[in-house]
Amino acid sequence: MDYTNKGFGTRAIHAGNVHDKQYGALTMPIYQTSTFVFDSCEQGAARFSGKEEGFIYSRLGNPTTAVLEAKIANLDGAEACAATSAGMGAISSTLWTVARAGAHIIADGTLYGCTYALLAHGLTRYGVEVDFIDTSDIEVLKSKLKENTVAVYLETPANPNLKITDIAEVAKAAHAYNKDIKVICDNTFASPYLQSPLALGADVVVYSATKYLNGHGDVIAGFVSGSKEFINQVKMFGIKDMTGAVLGPQEAFLILRGLKTFEIRMQRHCENGRKVAEFLNNHPKVEKVYYPGLESHKNHEVAKKQMRDYGAMISFEVKGGKEAGAKFVNSLKLCTLAVSLGDAETLIEHPASMTHSTYSAEELAKAGIPEGLVRISVGLENAEDIIEDLAQGFECL
Ligand SMILES: *Cc1c(COP(=O)(O)O)cnc(C)c1O
Repeated sequence: MDYTNKGFGTRAIHAGNVHDKQYGALTMPIYQTSTFVFDSCEQGAARFSGKEEGFIYSRLGNPTTAVLEAKIANLDGAEACAATSAGMGAISSTLWTVARAGAHIIADGTLYGCTYALLAHGLTRYGVEVDFIDTSDIEVLKSKLKENTVAVYLETPANPNLKITDIAEVAKAAHAYNKDIKVICDNTFASPYLQSPLALGADVVVYSATKYLNGHGDVIAGFVSGSKEFINQVKMFGIKDMTGAVLGPQEAFLILRGLKTFEIRMQRHCENGRKVAEFLNNHPKVEKVYYPGLESHKNHEVAKKQMRDYGAMISFEVKGGKEAGAKFVNSLKLCTLAVSLGDAETLIEHPASMTHSTYSAEELAKAGIPEGLVRISVGLENAEDIIEDLAQGFECL
């Protein structure tokens, strides 16, 4: 059945599923196998040359993982998807696929800490030139594009300050300069439920599936979605030869399980996110709230245009700066002090000393990440309980 025009929840449950002809299993079994048996040398040769479809070896493909890849491609409106062993596996496999010595990459300065480190300290060791800019300023972007530019890399909403970049504008500017430039968007914070970067003109979407897509805090995983041609390059070069960052079938199974409730989880996340953002925004001990759903957010209008809702990631500054922020976080009882996000549990952290400790103080300032910023991933608990805990935290100040 073709699920292209079905609702999001229906697609999350059914798209990509393969009917089990042997036993009629409802859910996709875990094909816990490293390799696949050939009938003959001739068949092995046909599989390797691509003349015959079929599995060879689980680094090149696995039936459980393949179902998951087909499902994510559907949710992203992509021709194809590659699953990886971590979000960083997706990002590094993608960047190794597009980069070469002498190539130029433009990246937003506000990124997940390890992505920033890979671009600033990793790829540059191999002769790749990287320019960090604010991609929400299109004129700056246009001024930085040059002949050897191979990719523009950004996150929106960005980690950790929820900066919003207009994906359509970036794609238009990059492709007008050179249609071969890959516009790569990390869609982890929004997830395919809230935002479809490919429909807005991006070429490649990357995810940490550790976050909303799995949603249960028990798996590290990633995805890359895009054209069949590009994903084939990511699989057959980026993952197969460069990183080896392949997702195991057990993890693929857990993500498939988590995706059955993806739509209702996201609905609750958004509802809770809105309530917590409003509470924080009205609290006298809060200096500033960063949430794209608030009209006071700098790029609220762009968020409204390109996102279906605003999610459950919120950052805020407590009055009194870094020290007050730490005291507040330490006094919470229900909200859990941990990095990661998109889980059932509300997680809270301090980016400057945790997820973004790869940034120097100067780099933090340049990227617009205040040192006292607190980041909260609003979970699936009852909103009033989350708010009650935050309120008692403020009482401790
Ligand atoms: C967590 C995260 C990553 C890295 O993903 P892992 O699964 O931890 O490797 C990349 N980008 C963003 C925006 C993230 O939040």
